[in-house]
Amino acid sequence: MKFSVDPKKSLGQNFLIDSNIISKIIKIGNIKKNNIILEIGAGTGNLTKKIAKLEPKKIYAIEKDKKLSSYLEKEFENLSSLQIVNEDIFDFLKKENFKEKIIVFGNLPYNISTQILSSLALVKKWPPWYDILILMFQKEVAERIVAKTKTMEFNRLSILANWRLHVEKHFNISKNCFFPKPKVDSTLLSFRPKMKNIFHLKNPKNLEKVTRALFSNKRKMINKNFKKLFKKNIHLAKKLNIDLNLRPEQLSSETYYKIAVQYENLFD
Ligand code: SAH
Repeated sequence: MKFSVDPKKSLGQNFLIDSNIISKIIKIGNIKKNNIILEIGAGTGNLTKKIAKLEPKKIYAIEKDKKLSSYLEKEFENLSSLQIVNEDIFDFLKKENFKEKIIVFGNLPYNISTQILSSLALVKKWPPWYDILILMFQKEVAERIVAKTKTMEFNRLSILANWRLHVEKHFNISKNCFFPKPKVDSTLLSFRPKMKNIFHLKNPKNLEKVTRALFSNKRKMINKNFKKLFKKNIHLAKKLNIDLNLRPEQLSSETYYKIAVQYENLFD
């Protein structure tokens, strides 16, 4: 059956049509028969079909678009291990109660991929409910996520992602591999939980808060924003050996993790 509805731009519907690339993405998951898979934004089922061939125990395919999810229901009606969920992924994740480790695939719309990554990177329970996240990003965004400190690209997302996740860049995907063809190329990244986390935070949201505050003006020194965060406790800068005359991208990730730990201690 061919899907014959116009792709919706608002839902970032660019379907991956290159069979080799799809196989390469799926290989990263190293899917075994006892695995559980979560696919975010299943679309027309291009990835779903190849995942299903490997016969994992269960596949959850989340698709927000009603038309597409009905299409998937028909297309895969005989596949009992597949559960199609017509829901927004953020609503689905709020209710999430996975007991087993999950392999997550997300060839996501560009506008939500960073939001998904930061929310999954900052889940409270660690190690988390997932074994690996295999996610596609706009190429430029992926470059920022893997960026090292003291480079122009170094940014909040890189700090948040690298805190408790091993980030790996796999390959770029040309815009020609999609229909309809997007304006930009993509890059596939994967994320695996680090088992040892030396900068423990009671509330991971504090890392988000601290980085947001310190990166609120990238061109300026962190001085003012640091004082705003710590008010009467700016002597902490000395204790942590932080030069407040630096710009936010000049601090190391570790420094941000230390700052977040101290920030949290203010409320004890
Ligand atoms: N994975 C498919 C589809 C990619 S397009 C492929 O590679 O071919 C992205 C898909 O995500 C679209 O089908 C779109 O409807 C869906 N989507 C967009 N926003 C979503 C959300 N918030 N939750 C769940 N699915 C979403």
